[in-house]
Amino acid sequence: MIPAAFDYHHPSDIDEVLALLDEHGWEAKILAGGQSLIPAMRFRLAEPGTVVDVNGLAELERFEESDGFLHIGPMVRHATIAGSELVRDRYPLLSDAAEVIADPLVRNRGTVGGSLVHADPAGDWGSVMLAYRAELTVRRAGGERTLPIDELFLTTFVTSLEPNELVTGIRIPAASDGEGGAYEKLERKVGDFATVGVATQITLADDGKVSAAGIGLTAVGATSLRAAAAEGELLGSGAEAAAIEAAAVKAAEASSPTADTRGSEEYKRDMVRVLTGRALRRSVDRARAAS
Ligand SMILES: Cc1cc2nc3c(=O)[nH]c(=O)nc-3n(C[C@H](O)[C@H](O)[C@H](O)COP(=O)(O)OP(=O)(O)OC[C@H]3O[C@@H](n4cnc5c(N)ncnc54)[C@H](O)[C@@H]3O)c2cc1C
Repeated sequence: MIPAAFDYHHPSDIDEVLALLDEHGWEAKILAGGQSLIPAMRFRLAEPGTVVDVNGLAELERFEESDGFLHIGPMVRHATIAGSELVRDRYPLLSDAAEVIADPLVRNRGTVGGSLVHADPAGDWGSVMLAYRAELTVRRAGGERTLPIDELFLTTFVTSLEPNELVTGIRIPAASDGEGGAYEKLERKVGDFATVGVATQITLADDGKVSAAGIGLTAVGATSLRAAAAEGELLGSGAEAAAIEAAAVKAAEASSPTADTRGSEEYKRDMVRVLTGRALRRSVDRARAAS
């Protein structure tokens, strides 16, 4: 189908983007990679009167380690992360996930920011950013705020962003010694959305005990989910097999999958348990190697 008519804007700076969002409110939509917005417009699920294209704004493409963070501009493409040597060396959870998002065509266009704001519970970046405890920088005309990732997702395809707000930055803590992460995704075929996905990130202290843990779940609830009780099982443990199994069971309990063509509720819940165990074991191996 052909989208409904809309006005197209391609501003040359962020202030202009913010002014347009302020003027048009709910009528306006940001165009990032277009991989979710354009299909929604073509199916007339979204009919924005104004489309504000933010491609080409260098500030939104920032991708560097500085000030104790890895800064990922919202317009950084999935393929940029998948192809980054820095990410491969220091951020294995990001690397694991980027490689299994969709196919090369979608990875070349789709962006991290677009994926997070689209708020599809089956999107891989949501759970990854929960595991990393990411923070977003959000701007509107005349103001800026920091939004912890835990406060972004309200329900399926709905975020806490106001219609006049633009995500201008995403940051995760810079990698340090004793950290490791992993992403496990069950998919029906290469390039598919997750049936179930699990993102884990852990930090081991000098004594080998877990000092920080992040676990995010993909496609098993109305939003990407944090498995907080599972994280609690790991803290202070030696990441031994029993602690990992206890965390995996708690992660499964935190999920609330629905049955569909990809599987039953019971199957998906059990896959959360299995994949959490696998992701944690790989995270621990990577954390020990980085100690
Ligand atoms: C065939 C196919 C397979 C896919 N498979 C997967 C998969 O396996 N895993 C996965 O995670 N995803 C998958 N996707 C989704 C893909 O990752 C999209 O790229 C992503 O969901 C949206 O990113 P985008 O940059 O294309 O955003 P767009 O479609 O341009 O925008 C999405 C939404 O975010 C808003 N937005 C974008 N940027 C900002 C910003 N900076 N501030 C405020 N609002 C903003 C837009 O207004 C829009 O509402 C798939 C998509 C397709 C078409």
